[in-house]
Amino acid sequence: MLSSECVPYAKTGGLADVVGALPKALRQLGHQSMVVLPLYSSIDRVRLKIEPVLSPMGVWMGDRQEWCAVHRADMDGVPVYFIEFEQYFNRWGLYHDAAFRDYADNARRFAFLTRAGLQLCKDLGFKPDIVHAHDWQTALAAAYLKVWHWDDPILGQAASVLTIHNLAYQGVYPATDFAYLGLRWDNFTPDKLEAHGAINFLKGGIVYADAVNTVSPNYARETKAPAGGCGLAPFLNGKGERYRGILNGADYQSWDPAHDLHLPANYDAADLNGKAVCKRKLQQRFGLAESPRVPILGVVSRFVGQKGLDLLAATCDELLRSMQVQLAILGSGEKDLEHYFGGLAARYPGRVGTHIGYDEALSRWITAGSDFFIMPSRYEPCGLNQIYSLRYGTLPIVRATGGLDDTIQQYDETHGTGTGFKFWDPNASALYYTIGWAVSTYYDRPAHHQAMIQQAMAQDFSWERSAADYVRLYEQARAART
Ligand code: ADP
Repeated sequence: MLSSECVPYAKTGGLADVVGALPKALRQLGHQSMVVLPLYSSIDRVRLKIEPVLSPMGVWMGDRQEWCAVHRADMDGVPVYFIEFEQYFNRWGLYHDAAFRDYADNARRFAFLTRAGLQLCKDLGFKPDIVHAHDWQTALAAAYLKVWHWDDPILGQAASVLTIHNLAYQGVYPATDFAYLGLRWDNFTPDKLEAHGAINFLKGGIVYADAVNTVSPNYARETKAPAGGCGLAPFLNGKGERYRGILNGADYQSWDPAHDLHLPANYDAADLNGKAVCKRKLQQRFGLAESPRVPILGVVSRFVGQKGLDLLAATCDELLRSMQVQLAILGSGEKDLEHYFGGLAARYPGRVGTHIGYDEALSRWITAGSDFFIMPSRYEPCGLNQIYSLRYGTLPIVRATGGLDDTIQQYDETHGTGTGFKFWDPNASALYYTIGWAVSTYYDRPAHHQAMIQQAMAQDFSWERSAADYVRLYEQARAART
């Protein structure tokens, strides 16, 4: 598995959760896998027990050889290899600097990671049946296998699988980077790696991979239509049966309110007392009025257009004027949203708490201590936070798109069933009325609210089923390869 992120080593989003969990679930099914990651300077080698294993390793990029070192750690029985190359991975962030400016050499950095991962298989004598790439960062693996390694004794039989965690991030770079990638110029055509004069990593991966998937069935459907396809719908449709959606699982070993060590108190579906403690502590943490009876609406998110938090921002004043609610917000990203939500807490002391930043413990605290969790995404390939919220008995309020629609069952007011509240139109008033619906359920139909919590906590999105689906996809890729 070639990836730019993996929990617990490096994470900016859901990709890291998936790569941290899937290889372990595959192992449970009797398969052997290994993960290759960059050794970012932010990774704590001592704490995470990362040891050097191989140096130097030569990696051909274009007409030059780069020399790197390889390190290794054990992730619950899965070997994880780290490519050390100071020039590319000794940086402030994974993809961009502190001012959110993408690094200018990202095409080179991640093409290098990808080739280094393939080279490592050769140096270790590890003969994979499948090379599994994730997102644009390692998508070129499929192209390298087809263009260079088809007759290689180690890699020649490997089939390639590409998982798309977000179709909007395609890795588009100027043609001037192409020579460094080390692919042949006759691959730089509109039916392969070229798009509008630039290199498109993800498109190349889709074209060359033996099988492609994305992270929910609904997002797979949406991306095959022009509106959701981000320009790549024809290529996804071109894969036919070899493109589909496999819902992400959740790592319930890590995300379990009964054992989560980050929480001030633990709880399960049979005894929710600990959840009430989490709520009180969350109110203290954010300086909110301490009241068990006022519902808390939680948000944990990257602040980017995709997540639709501008819709929430547009309705916050009206929301706080007309409803007895509190808001607990954690996130970072676009400066406008950071300023808005930071300022909101100042304008509504005791009712709104905001923390700008990335904080694992606080994210779990909000997930446990809130009553509702808001995700008004414009699009959402799968979404993990709503799955975590379900397990923590916090009912999601979501826009019915992508994986959010697949994982949340709409509240049925007649029978008191469902696991959350969904709306369809991507606008602030639809969000406002849906929050109002959830809040009125909390105050006026408490028996329904309690029944929904039980139903939510009983949902099972564990990796076992998803990992078995991946094994089927791997078999399909192998069949397509031969
Ligand atoms: P995406 O990958 O698009 O960001 P997902 O819902 O798939 O969305 O995954 C987001 C992951 O990142 C979750 O594990 C979530 O808890 C975490 N996360 C996002 N923002 C923050 C933050 N500010 N602090 C801590 N965790 C965060």
